[in-house]
Amino acid sequence: MADPFAWLKPALETLHRAQWYRQPLLSGTPGAVVSVGEPPRPLINFCSNDYLGLANHPQVKAAAIKAIDQWGSGATGSRLLSGQRSLHTQLERAIAQWKGTEAALVFSSGTAANLGTIAALVDQRDLVLGDAYNHACLKKGARLSHATFYEYPHNTVAALAQLLKTHRSQYRRCLILTDGVFSMDGDVAPLEEILALAETYTAMVLVDDAHGTGVLGTNGAGTLAALGQSSPTVIQMGTLSKALGSLGGYIAGSQALITYLQHRASTWIYSTGLSPADTAAALAALEQLQTEPSLRQALEERIQQLEEGLQELGCPILPRPLPTPIFCLPAPDPATVLQWGQKLQEAGCWVAAVRPPTVPFSRLRITLRADHTPEHIAQLLAALGALLKGC
Ligand SMILES: *Cc1c(COP(=O)(O)O)cnc(C)c1O
Repeated sequence: MADPFAWLKPALETLHRAQWYRQPLLSGTPGAVVSVGEPPRPLINFCSNDYLGLANHPQVKAAAIKAIDQWGSGATGSRLLSGQRSLHTQLERAIAQWKGTEAALVFSSGTAANLGTIAALVDQRDLVLGDAYNHACLKKGARLSHATFYEYPHNTVAALAQLLKTHRSQYRRCLILTDGVFSMDGDVAPLEEILALAETYTAMVLVDDAHGTGVLGTNGAGTLAALGQSSPTVIQMGTLSKALGSLGGYIAGSQALITYLQHRASTWIYSTGLSPADTAAALAALEQLQTEPSLRQALEERIQQLEEGLQELGCPILPRPLPTPIFCLPAPDPATVLQWGQKLQEAGCWVAAVRPPTVPFSRLRITLRADHTPEHIAQLLAALGALLKGC
């Protein structure tokens, strides 16, 4: 009998050859220093998305534990059936207030929020335009929606304008998709120009602010807030799993939009409600980041220290209109970036070596945390200096 899975072995061999295979192991709690590998070794953590250190914050953890005691470990059903708890509406109200929108809706992940929302808003009669460097789940959402989907070169407003001019009139609805802070590059979308174009061409805009949420703007309200932009028509998406240290995703926008999604977003309707622990942790994290501006201040200081240090080393970094905690150092090829990652580990620094197909070109991706000390950054700069010798 022929094996229907015979194709798996050669497929995996191809992945190994391309050095795409990866599986680091972290033990213990997340923090500025973590135990990595087998046997575990302490390394300074430059590859987490826990920008404010809230995933191990005593009050956030206590809130999650209390929620389990009070509500149990699972939501036990979809929100429309038996999965709804008062915690969910509390969190959704808090997110809406924080984002300055009428309403918000939490999904079981950021990915689920994007897939479900995009597919609910547009179909084969519609047009989706997206930045080429957008997160994979925005691209996947666009494809799942069956809308006509074009990408414009990264952050190139002129190309977006051209696509709108050429195609917009032939479609019913139009949806523009962009990351707020680009997850692998750390630069920021030109949201003012994008919103202006959207107004001209009657297009909806979804801003995926997974990496701006909690980090940028007053109270960490995100990239739009930091750029002084607000628009009642913009859809603000974010995740609870990065600066908020929990798990889940959200959409914030008008009440009409949220009510529509509750009836049309299949990843929300047919999926179990967010667990009590995740919901309570996100709610507590939201409170922490709004009452403790010192967390964001500390992060900003470390960002500035690394920016200045990289400049002194002669490393060209992309222009950064806002201080984001993500740094991208381009590498010539996947094998080199792996070697760089290995050398940095030997110097005590854990930095992500990111390769295609996750990104268009290999790079070191450095992310900073509020609990990094100036000495942690200095150690990274020394290791990079030895490694790159002027890039
Ligand atoms: C992480 C990420 C997501 C997905 O969020 P999850 O909650 O991890 O599913 C979506 N968009 C961007 C830009 C991200 O970085």
